[in-house]
Amino acid sequence: MPMPDFKTYDDNNIFAMILRGEIPNKTVYEDDFALAFHDINPQAPVHVLVIPKGKYISMADFTANADDAEIAGFMRAVGKTAEILDLPDPGYRLLANHGPHSHQEVPHLHVHIFGGKHVGPLLMRGWEGKIKMPNMD
Ligand code: AMP
Repeated sequence: MPMPDFKTYDDNNIFAMILRGEIPNKTVYEDDFALAFHDINPQAPVHVLVIPKGKYISMADFTANADDAEIAGFMRAVGKTAEILDLPDPGYRLLANHGPHSHQEVPHLHVHIFGGKHVGPLLMRGWEGKIKMPNMD
């Protein structure tokens, strides 16, 4: 998948289309600030994405430009979604990719929630130069 341009919001990104109801999703939770839905390609027994309703490209864009109500509402939605999924005990991982170095593919802010098993070490091993990915320097 080609890397998106992270400078301007793309109204045709896949999560914008989900928010407009143009393509389906498996919703876990929704309120005025956020939508949470199952990832189409799960990397853990539970893998859910939480996205803000507003047009924000990434965490940097969101934290710089969203108002306090949007930020509070979004963070509460992340916590509420984890509760609905029964994850707080024994635990879960949150992850938000930002930009090319993180391999963010969809240019609408999303927080991944992973759970349902031990989810392993925090980062992929081998970053010390053993693993090369195209256009990732
Ligand atoms: P990231 O690499 O952080 O940008 O993650 C993008 C995530 O979006 C990946 O885990 C994809 O599997 C997921 N994804 C892409 N399209 C869809 C979709 N239509 N419904 C649900 N998840 C999707």
